[in-house]
Amino acid sequence: MHTPAELSAQHFDSFGTPALVFAAPGRVNLIGEHTDYCDGFVLPAAIDFKTLVAISQRTDGRLVVQSVNYSERLDEVLDPFLDRRFRDLRAGAETHWADYIAGVLWILRQHGVPVADGFSMTVEGDVPLGAGLSSSAAIEVATACAVLGATSFDLPLEKTAQLCRAAENQFVGANVGIMDQFVSCFGALDHAVMIDCRSLQYTLVPIPSDVRIVICNSMVKHSVAGGEYNTRRAEIEQGTAILHLHRPEIRALRDATLEDLDRWGSEMPANVFRRCRHVITEDNRVLAAVNAFQHGDLSRFGQLMHEAHVSFRDDFEASCPEIDLLVELADKEPGCFGARLTGGGFGGCTVNLVAAEQVEGFTQAMRTGYKQGTGIDCEIYISRASAGAHQIVPE
Ligand code: ADP
Ligand code: MG
Repeated sequence: MHTPAELSAQHFDSFGTPALVFAAPGRVNLIGEHTDYCDGFVLPAAIDFKTLVAISQRTDGRLVVQSVNYSERLDEVLDPFLDRRFRDLRAGAETHWADYIAGVLWILRQHGVPVADGFSMTVEGDVPLGAGLSSSAAIEVATACAVLGATSFDLPLEKTAQLCRAAENQFVGANVGIMDQFVSCFGALDHAVMIDCRSLQYTLVPIPSDVRIVICNSMVKHSVAGGEYNTRRAEIEQGTAILHLHRPEIRALRDATLEDLDRWGSEMPANVFRRCRHVITEDNRVLAAVNAFQHGDLSRFGQLMHEAHVSFRDDFEASCPEIDLLVELADKEPGCFGARLTGGGFGGCTVNLVAAEQVEGFTQAMRTGYKQGTGIDCEIYISRASAGAHQIVPE
């Protein structure tokens, strides 16, 4: 990964214009899975893996983007390209890396940001792609900040997060909640971010200094993921509609209690009942986990992570054997307070809370155990909770 100064130099070599450089991080979700689109609570942290966008304005109306990760260059007339790509994606075209950038330009254009003169961009990230650490939000937020910065257009950060989500929903066509883009915007050094996904009020929760966030990448992503994700969304909607019939103030599962589910859950198919039970109990676990962090009670926090994983595995049925093995191995390790799948499901990464002085032994044991169990070399990242999106000011 290039430093911002190197990326800026590469941009200058390619385009002959000086660049502004912006960074936005990926994220790891400590607890609160599939609660964001139910208006509930989540507790992610930004990680110190990020996407950098170097940008300069053009005058010829073109969008020229070079991707360092893909060693590819996009060169199009901006306005018609956005419209054409939007139509193609709706007609079922396969997603391309440039769509995340185009989607952001498309939504910013709708909100009055002057994009028609065009931009040159050089883009590089070190968030593992498609591993559940939200490289997609990182590239969206970095692009949005870059375009807003280059055009000196004032937009509140909360609105930026919402528009990046809208770009992913409406342009790319992935029906994600607000968590990823929000924490990529609002992350803070050594803090997790508790987000109320209804009001978008958030609380920074200090992460105790004697633990490390250790992320284990299973290196698998099962192909069912996209389809199953949409099935889960439909199941949640079905369950919510039944509860809403009985108690109209239940607009999302955030408003429902376990008592509601006990009373009316028998009207739901068994799978729908279990999906709802996961979301309702998960909201409670997020609130309890924030409390545990605030009291420095790492054992309690870890126990809640464990319960969250069991619920995600058994009630939400969104885990997979490789991830379950990583969690099982971690649970046996001294110094590991808790482990769970993080992200949408069906592969990707686990997040582990590990005592700082035991991290080395932990990573060693995880590598060996996972290799023995699956034949796969896992990747392990030790990350500090990091700052959200920002401009990199040259020294
Ligand atoms: P995740 O968000 O879990 O990493 P997604 O499938 O949501 O997985 O998003 C990954 C996609 O985002 C990549 O396949 C690529 O198209 C795009 N992307 C992310 N980061 C970059 C980057 N640095 N450069 C180009 N495209 C990127
Ligand atoms: Mg993503």
